[in-house]
Amino acid sequence: MKLPITGGCCCSAVRYEISAEPLSGFNCHCRTCQKSVGAPYLAAMFVLASALHITGNYKEYATPAASGHIMYRGFCPECGSSLFGRNNTFTEVRPVAAATLDDPSIFKPSKDIWVSEAQPWDYMDPLLPKFSGNFTN
Ligand SMILES: [Zn+2]
Ligand SMILES: [Zn+2]
Repeated sequence: MKLPITGGCCCSAVRYEISAEPLSGFNCHCRTCQKSVGAPYLAAMFVLASALHITGNYKEYATPAASGHIMYRGFCPECGSSLFGRNNTFTEVRPVAAATLDDPSIFKPSKDIWVSEAQPWDYMDPLLPKFSGNFTN
């Protein structure tokens, strides 16, 4: 994978660079992700927080996670694109929305999570492992 990986929002006010290989990729079908991104699921990569460099002013919206943690969802206040998240407890890794990459074709999801909340019209790759909730349940 060619580094750095770059991406940004619709209007380019917020841009980011990822300077290390992403750790993993997943599709989250939970209702909060559905609402947040306006789509049946959020396709995201976990990257090292220290490898994510953001430029431009973004806003965060705090959503409760099932774990009891808070997920701060970062978005562009100009165009509304959902870009990345920040967990108040697991601070070493951050999710980045794969569809906001400049080259989203490099994204490789390895699992579907929160499939218990998926919509009946949400088609999933049958080859990917499915989890009814988070990775472990
Ligand atoms: Zn924007
Ligand atoms: Zn989710």
